[in-house]
Amino acid sequence: MSNIVVGQVEQYIRGLVPERAGLLKQIEEEARAEGIPVVQPEVGQLLLCLARLRGARRVLEVGAATGYSALWLAQGLGQEGTLTTIELDPARARKARENFEQWFGGYAGPVTLLEGDAMQILPSLKGPFDMIFVDAAKGQYPEFLRQVERLLAPGGVLVADNVLFRGMVARPEEDVERRYRTLVRRLREFLERLTGHPDWDTSVLPIGDGVALSYKRN
Ligand code: SAM
Repeated sequence: MSNIVVGQVEQYIRGLVPERAGLLKQIEEEARAEGIPVVQPEVGQLLLCLARLRGARRVLEVGAATGYSALWLAQGLGQEGTLTTIELDPARARKARENFEQWFGGYAGPVTLLEGDAMQILPSLKGPFDMIFVDAAKGQYPEFLRQVERLLAPGGVLVADNVLFRGMVARPEEDVERRYRTLVRRLREFLERLTGHPDWDTSVLPIGDGVALSYKRN
């Protein structure tokens, strides 16, 4: 398939996501204007569907940015479901908090934002979570996976964004710009662990920037 066809398919799929209104649309526009890398709407819609399919009650997100994907996840939460999300950047964390308060009408609703480095916060968290979405520093995915393995319930769902990293993960190493090679190697390590381990059933979806969807066996 040529890139043009791939682009057409992507645009078509994106066009099928119901039109966002209000705050979600505003966050999308701000993210575009300020270069904040939030998930594509079709990935947001996937998160919502997966949370609903799983009947997710305890969800963890690594990498909140300004709260866009968290709001998709929150829409898929079951009754009395909760979402814990982690963000390193103080300005983004502040904005995310404002967005949660606006969305839920003056308080953060079912969302708890933990500000700081996930590498330090994850070891202090108690599981089990029934869904975990990883969308933070790509070079740290193998370390995040070690924590996620501990925190995710058997039968839980792990979703990771950007696993194809602009298609570079699928290219021979010599065709990848030098400055991205370590990152690409780490993403491959992450995918190989998920696809090669008997505890996980994994499917890699070529939507957005590449999404890995994994089921943790009982
Ligand atoms: N999930 C968000 C969304 O779609 O709305 C986008 C997240 S953005 C791709 C990645 C975020 O992870 C950035 O805001 C960055 O500051 C944060 N981040 C990177 N490394 C982190 C770490 N070690 N701990 C916590 N947050 C981290």
